[in-house]
Amino acid sequence: MKKKPFIIANWKMNLGSTDLQRFFSHFTLADEDLNKVQIIFCPSFVFIERVGSLINNRPMFLGAQNIFWEEKGAYTGEVSASQLSDLGCRYVIVGHSERRNLFNESDEIINKKIHLALEYKIVPIVCLGENYQEKESGRTKKVIEQKLITSLESLRSFELNKIIIAYEPIWAISTSPENPGNMSDSPEEAQVVHKFIRKLIGDMFDEHTAKSLSVIYGGSVNPENISGFAQMGDIDGVLVGGASKEADKFQKIIKAYL
Ligand code: PEP
Repeated sequence: MKKKPFIIANWKMNLGSTDLQRFFSHFTLADEDLNKVQIIFCPSFVFIERVGSLINNRPMFLGAQNIFWEEKGAYTGEVSASQLSDLGCRYVIVGHSERRNLFNESDEIINKKIHLALEYKIVPIVCLGENYQEKESGRTKKVIEQKLITSLESLRSFELNKIIIAYEPIWAISTSPENPGNMSDSPEEAQVVHKFIRKLIGDMFDEHTAKSLSVIYGGSVNPENISGFAQMGDIDGVLVGGASKEADKFQKIIKAYL
């Protein structure tokens, strides 16, 4: 069966109550179209419930931008897997480069988060990618391999069907200090890395797991460049930051998959 593409909005620390109201009043795609793809909105924690009511049982899903690695306890300011699950969150972003860089999240921490999310039936969207220096020194594949091996430690192959890998080259993220010109990766180069990720998963687990795994791309995706990514055989969707904040732009991105 053909996989449904994932189109995931990472709103980061943006969009308040009025913005969300406006976004959904301009979001006019019909359920018939939404059913052909998997749309996931990742608002700030405080607005997850609000977005849930704005979605209002339509075929779109809720995700969070982070999760804590312990189940519960004295962790001031953190949010647990069970709390996210209570809110109806079916997805969670883990290992975003902003969290790796600003909050020193390691692949070991990301591994704990993945295990905990899976325990609560939340699909982790595992972000990984190389920085500019690593790309320029030809270390992209090595970096990806190391991150994958450590962050997927002791997962079993059936659990790989319940995770999404997001290849996000750090130098291509629109808000990254490494990307002053808002450059995305080219679809062709991203396809090479996606294919490599799938091969690694094949080696680490098995062929079937590698084939059914969803590997999506993130980094300055917009309505102008989306068609290239949508055509690539190993790119199963996109994680969108900046261009997901406006309903009009986000819908144009979704339409590339309809
Ligand atoms: C991101 O930060 O996950 C991202 C993909 O951002 P942007 O689309 O703005 O590059």
